[in-house]
Amino acid sequence: MSECPKCQGRMEEGFILDVGYGTRTPSRWYAGTPVSSIWTGTKIRGVRNLPVVSLRCQRCGFLENYAKG
Ligand SMILES: [Zn+2]
Repeated sequence: MSECPKCQGRMEEGFILDVGYGTRTPSRWYAGTPVSSIWTGTKIRGVRNLPVVSLRCQRCGFLENYAKG
């Protein structure tokens, strides 16, 4: 278990949830800058992406995100 870079507290593993219309999906990291789409909001087809793991400090609440490939 890692240590908080702000206060040296204990970091707890979690994830950020995206809530849509009837969907709940853990956030993912996408390479590059977002490109708008009139159909889906943002184009993601063919874009390299990874699941985001978010660590939270149990003392100060600091969040640290990782997208490991
Ligand atoms: Zn902390």
